[in-house]
Amino acid sequence: LQKQIQQAQKMESLGLLVSGLAHDFNNLLAGMMGYAQQGIKHSSANPELAEYFQHIFTRAEQGARMTRQLLTFARGSHLEPMRIQMNTLIAQTLEFVGTLLGPTIKIEFNPDATIADLYADPTQLEQMLVNLCINARDAMPHGGTLRVETHTFQLHKGKQDARFTAQPGPYVQITITDTGEGMSPEVLARLFEPFFTTKDVGRGTGLGLSVVYGIIQQHHGFIEVTSQPGKGTCFALYFPVAEQVSLEETTLNERAASEKV
Ligand code: ADP
Repeated sequence: LQKQIQQAQKMESLGLLVSGLAHDFNNLLAGMMGYAQQGIKHSSANPELAEYFQHIFTRAEQGARMTRQLLTFARGSHLEPMRIQMNTLIAQTLEFVGTLLGPTIKIEFNPDATIADLYADPTQLEQMLVNLCINARDAMPHGGTLRVETHTFQLHKGKQDARFTAQPGPYVQITITDTGEGMSPEVLARLFEPFFTTKDVGRGTGLGLSVVYGIIQQHHGFIEVTSQPGKGTCFALYFPVAEQVSLEETTLNERAASEKV
């Protein structure tokens, strides 16, 4: 037991160290991104210079994303849920994502205006969407189309077995489809493993999808993936609608339950 406690304490201080460092890094990178944007703004007369600033911005953003993943991973994410209209959040995120995807990737968004609100953490949902869009971009090095759609989905009683432990009821479904290189069954099987990546060092951490998975789990949702090599990939995300579940309640209940143990 003594050993286990020591190990837990070690992990805790390692987690603190990592998240402290990641936090400081994030601030540095945010500063760099701000100055790079200023540089882009003030170099309209010099396209070559503007391009250098654009590279600085893109790399700093990539670094900031990596440190955010590390933060979420080391801390375990703390939810700050609120009532959210998913179509609005997606539209806002895609606007920002557009600059990361570049001119060769076309973004299509088909929102279903009738979907219900969610009770969720907007920062986490944004991180989840950005991670999925970046993966889609990396799968389409020669360009293509990224299509995002929302729908209402009914998970019927008795049908939920295949869908992990999800509760039957109404869900908001978000599909993110790319026309990229797709995945082999071997990659598909290991997709959500932490640190699993097929990308070059410096491009991928292998944390993107495990963070996505964690975020969806915390929101009591589920995820499905279909992929065809050479054709593309579709991620379908499902979140219970706000009426069905209050995360605050479940978190409190879970805490009460774990304190009893
Ligand atoms: P990373 O992007 O850092 O490699 P992820 O956990 O986000 O880590 O993804 C793990 C792996 O899953 C990727 O390296 C890639 O091989 C595969 N992958 C994820 N999304 C897609 C996609 N849209 N199309 C093809 N392969 C993908």
